[in-house]
Amino acid sequence: YAGEVARRPWFQLEDRHTWLTLARLGALVALALAAWLAPREFLPRDARLMLLACAVAAVLHAALWLVPRRWPRRLRLAVDVSLVVDAAWATAIAYAAGGSGGALAGAYLVTALWAALGYSARTGLKAGVLASLGFLTLVWYERDGELWGAASTGRLAFFWTALAAAVVGAAAGERELRVRAERLAVLHEAGRALILAPDADAMMACARDAAARLLPDWRVTVRRGAAADEVRLARAGGEGVVSVPVRGQDGVIGAIECRRALRAGTVRHRIRLREIVALETLAAGLGGALWRAELMARIERQSLTDGLTGLLNRRGFDRDLSRELARSRRSGQPVALCLLDVDRFKAFNDDFGHQAGDEALAAVAGIVAASCREGDLAARYGGEELAVILPGTSRDDAMIVAERIRAAVAAHPMPRRAVTVSVGVAAAEGGCSAEVLIEAADRALYEAKASGRDRVVAGRAVVAEAPSSG
Ligand code: GH3
Ligand code: MG
Ligand code: MG
Repeated sequence: YAGEVARRPWFQLEDRHTWLTLARLGALVALALAAWLAPREFLPRDARLMLLACAVAAVLHAALWLVPRRWPRRLRLAVDVSLVVDAAWATAIAYAAGGSGGALAGAYLVTALWAALGYSARTGLKAGVLASLGFLTLVWYERDGELWGAASTGRLAFFWTALAAAVVGAAAGERELRVRAERLAVLHEAGRALILAPDADAMMACARDAAARLLPDWRVTVRRGAAADEVRLARAGGEGVVSVPVRGQDGVIGAIECRRALRAGTVRHRIRLREIVALETLAAGLGGALWRAELMARIERQSLTDGLTGLLNRRGFDRDLSRELARSRRSGQPVALCLLDVDRFKAFNDDFGHQAGDEALAAVAGIVAASCREGDLAARYGGEELAVILPGTSRDDAMIVAERIRAAVAAHPMPRRAVTVSVGVAAAEGGCSAEVLIEAADRALYEAKASGRDRVVAGRAVVAEAPSSG
């Protein structure tokens, strides 16, 4: 892609040809008018020749503009022929306006210069060669067939020096334009890639690749964490380091760091301001993308979290249970499910109010969460019903966990009145659907309630059944 961008002209040759043809026609009309209207002492040596040259050049240029419209593959040829017309026209008007020392002798330089600026440095060189031939013809003609006279040598030296300066200047300008176009393309591409990147690591990789393309000779790293809140140019271990901060919503969240070995005796690298600006643009894009990704993750987390207890909500529970059951089907490992229901909670609410009820519920949730190991998933299944998913745990082991939770809740010193929970435990061994597992745990919970509450009851082990959606 970078190579493609580098070859792409800063705007299409066809457009440039059109604009330059228009500019030529404008210049020709202006010159013709000047030749027509100029006072007698400024009149060219041969006003009629000048008008004729302008008219013929205008017609030819118009034709050369039409050629690529009709035959698009003849565009280059049309451009080159138009340079021949320019050179011939410059010779004619220079002759008409007083010869190689006359007022319009500079037309050669203008021809070469504008071809260089308008088309390309190489085209400018071609125009220069053609114009030189015209110029030499003129000098030769004026000196009756003798070319290297004293007067013309100085003029020729001036002409060639000015021409070389024009072409070199145009080449430098052109290179600068290309570098800029490439830099913009890299930033544009990085911006797009940052939007499409699926996660923070991919975003950082995008930024690193783009920075490496912006500074091809440098080693680039993108890191997260604390960094200076400004661009730093420093030296570390024989290397020059350029560090550009990546800012998130609340300050600096990382840095793009570029390193390159320093040559002996130098203190710092010279880096162009515009390269730093490009890195800053990239860093801003990365910061924005990381912030958006974090925001999305937070929103997703929130959408799966219960506000009162901080546990997974019903949606999170459904998602995680399905995932664990699918995993269990693949691995053959069991998944246990504990369903907890707070005992006589309606009475608790009636006695102490909903506010106190909420606090008690949050305390029970805290105890449940604290009893979970890593990998266990605690959720608020419904009103005052909680659930714990225990991946890789058999029903008997889940009974131990459930009993520990029950005892911890019962022993917890609540501000108003102790609360207890009843728990139903079931386990899927070899895979089953979420509905079947929940139903088994629910039935066990019902039994726990029926047999006096504040207890744990084991449901039937749900063994592999016909595969079902899960
Ligand atoms: P048991 O489960 O032991 O059979 O009796 P219970 O009173 O707990 O059963 P029931 O299902 O009839 O009542 C549940 C009560 O839980 C009803 C409701 O007021 C209360 N509850 C449910 N969600 C919340 C909540 O978020 N906050 C508060 N304060 N109370 C809740
Ligand atoms: Mg209930
Ligand atoms: Mg209850």
